[in-house]
Amino acid sequence: MSRPTVPAPRPHPTPWRTSTRGRRPSAKVLPSQARAHNRAVVLGLLFHSGPVSRADLARATGLTRVTVSEIVGDLLADGLVAELGLRPEGRVGKPAMMVGLRSAEHHIVAVDLQRLPVGRIAVLDLAGTVVSERTADFSGLRGEEAFGALAELCRQAVESAPQRVVGVGIGTPGIVDAGGGVVESARLGWKDLPLAERLSAALGLGVHVANDADAAALAEFTYGEASASGFMAVVVGQGVGAGLVLDGHLVRGHRLAAGEIGHLTVDPRGAECECGRRGCLETIVAPTYLARTLEGRTPARRRTALRDAGRRLGAVLAPVVAALDLEEVLLTGPLDLLDGPLLQAAAETVDGTLLPTSGPPVRLRMAALGENGVLQGAAALVLAGEFGFS
Ligand SMILES: [Zn+2]
Repeated sequence: MSRPTVPAPRPHPTPWRTSTRGRRPSAKVLPSQARAHNRAVVLGLLFHSGPVSRADLARATGLTRVTVSEIVGDLLADGLVAELGLRPEGRVGKPAMMVGLRSAEHHIVAVDLQRLPVGRIAVLDLAGTVVSERTADFSGLRGEEAFGALAELCRQAVESAPQRVVGVGIGTPGIVDAGGGVVESARLGWKDLPLAERLSAALGLGVHVANDADAAALAEFTYGEASASGFMAVVVGQGVGAGLVLDGHLVRGHRLAAGEIGHLTVDPRGAECECGRRGCLETIVAPTYLARTLEGRTPARRRTALRDAGRRLGAVLAPVVAALDLEEVLLTGPLDLLDGPLLQAAAETVDGTLLPTSGPPVRLRMAALGENGVLQGAAALVLAGEFGFS
């Protein structure tokens, strides 16, 4: 029987939770840090490759068999992995015991606040499968009231989950710092709200928060097929935002606002935007504006308008793709608006703007996870925050 192929470990997980900014790098790696790192590497491999033997794990991670056996022993004791039976190893050697992650026996509560006033609260297993889901109406809720409603929804979801909940993840519009504090979220009326810290204290669980577009990007990396080398996930929802992953790390930016492309002016004489200016990217491609543009048009004129919006989007994306040498750009949002003439025109514009290089051209495509992207990204935040892999 041929061995299953075990992929090499992915780049070290994104530092979603801890920021090293302003801290001097320490020369010494403590044994406890090394153990935590090795445990995260083993968990990440089991997550991405499925059940394998201890010997396979040692080969794929470069760790010694003794170290792998110790880690697997700890994970068995913690109930995170299970022994799944023997795999025949061919004529030579004794059969190997397979170990696998107990994905279905652990749950995550994930919240998607991207399409406010509607919020989605779901219970997912570790594999990102939605076990149960509900929506909640946040109309008129701002500030402390919005926080209270969110905390109550999370509490109910944690209590209703059939399995042990390992953590809570939240994807929210606005600017979020590395510790899960919301610096500013205009839609929810939050400013300098230590959201992760306060929810964690209220729920007695680890809570992990990210900007909704960043969460969608992480989801494509963890649960989708997006390349770790460099991609941008453009989320078209209430507004337009983007999450950027470069060399396996989320790009946060100087003011934590990397990927905030929605209010770039693309047409100074265009429609008035909610930010008070005119012709922002949002006024061209956000569904509420786009639907208004398309209203009453014939199919041919509709197509022309969608292509025009796609060209404008492409013109914004091209310099980012060039500056960062991205491999892919993923779009997520309403398929009927984005997937067709708009996507095609955006791709043509990016292609036509960039200097042709010898390597493969940048790919523009719809995101694999679609409307569950933010929800699954919130779950991926928990995997990264609680277990150290993504
Ligand atoms: Zn604007």
